[in-house]
Amino acid sequence: MTDLHKKIEDYIPIVGQEKVEELKLIAQKLKGKTIQSINSTAVGGGVAEILSRMVPLLNNLGVDTKWDVIKGDLEFFGVTKKIHNALHGGKGITKKDVNIFLETSRLNLERTPLYGDIIFVHDPQPIALIGKKSTLDSKWIWRCHVDVSQPNKSVWNFLKKYIEKYDATVFSAPAFSQKLKVKQFMICPSIDPLSEKNRDLTDVDVSSVLKKYGLPHNVPLVTQVSRYDRLKDPAGVIDAYKLVRKYINCHLVLAGSHASDDPEGSEVLAEIREKAKGDPQIHLLVVDPKTNDFDVNALQRGSAVVIQKSLREGFALTVTEALWKARPVVASAVGGIPLQIAHKYSGLLCHSIEGAALHIKQFLHNPAYAKKLGTNGKEHIRQNYLLTRHLREYMLLFLSLYNKEDIVYL
Ligand code: UDP
Repeated sequence: MTDLHKKIEDYIPIVGQEKVEELKLIAQKLKGKTIQSINSTAVGGGVAEILSRMVPLLNNLGVDTKWDVIKGDLEFFGVTKKIHNALHGGKGITKKDVNIFLETSRLNLERTPLYGDIIFVHDPQPIALIGKKSTLDSKWIWRCHVDVSQPNKSVWNFLKKYIEKYDATVFSAPAFSQKLKVKQFMICPSIDPLSEKNRDLTDVDVSSVLKKYGLPHNVPLVTQVSRYDRLKDPAGVIDAYKLVRKYINCHLVLAGSHASDDPEGSEVLAEIREKAKGDPQIHLLVVDPKTNDFDVNALQRGSAVVIQKSLREGFALTVTEALWKARPVVASAVGGIPLQIAHKYSGLLCHSIEGAALHIKQFLHNPAYAKKLGTNGKEHIRQNYLLTRHLREYMLLFLSLYNKEDIVYL
């Protein structure tokens, strides 16, 4: 895809010349270092989304950056999904789960090439690669993308043994920081305004995607874009929608795709299909993987209201994406969402099904109010959550690992 090859100068019209010049200056200081990112999937979910944008741009800035993906079978990803849910406060894992995790981690330690000056490990799936630290002259960072404000204690303690071996950790929001013996940085995620998923589209583009998925043009669409995951609360979205439908005619769109490290997806989709059965105005879409980014872009732009009714969240890039498109967003006050939505200024926060329904109705009843909050939301994202800010903070973090005085201002 051509959009993977943007140059840093292409961002000047969006963020200004000064910010881009600053990035070039910082990048020069990283010359000669190789940054190796490692995660568990090349497509699907927020981490892959960010890396697919970040890696080419760092290279364009002259910072040698590579991206590797660990391997694992369904059983392993079943366990890491349980770990993910446990970090979000769910139940713990069994001894058998631990053994599966350890065995695949052992294989990954043997087969994953580790060559970076900085090895940048994302989330728990590849965390045990730190086992190779003593054999390499590298700096190690563990980047946590999930909400660990109230983790299951036993699972957190299991991971902590690995985490504390890293040189530094990164979390997405202040509420996620934990007591750790290693340095912690707070760096929020970001979106790329020039990616296929976020670039401007024409009305014709948007219409073509609505048509492709059999969605109407003349009735407002209320949309949630998310993996089919219980923590995204698709069932709660349907319940909220049903409350709205008592008063206003609209269609509900739940759009999801398949992430290879999330084996629960098809089970949740089947449950939701059952729940939505018999209502022709509820559309459960499995987004075409070949055109995923363009389609998600158009679905977000074509929606009257975007909803993100998650029960737990890391940051919720789907909210960032929708706000960047100046959409009115109704989202739960969890994880990184309140950083993005100041209630009644850049969107509406909800705490329940009834609250979500009320706010969707507010937006549908009052398009001028919806437009105002959407516009505010876009500006908030421009100022805080675009890739250029993220690149700056990551590069400063990389440099800080070589800073003996241990002082760095992000
Ligand atoms: N996404 C997508 N297609 C889908 C569903 C989700 O491309 O059918 C993308 C979505 O646009 C966003 C990312 O997956 O960029 C989800 O990131 P988020 O932080 O919202 O949640 P996560 O999946 O990481 O929990």
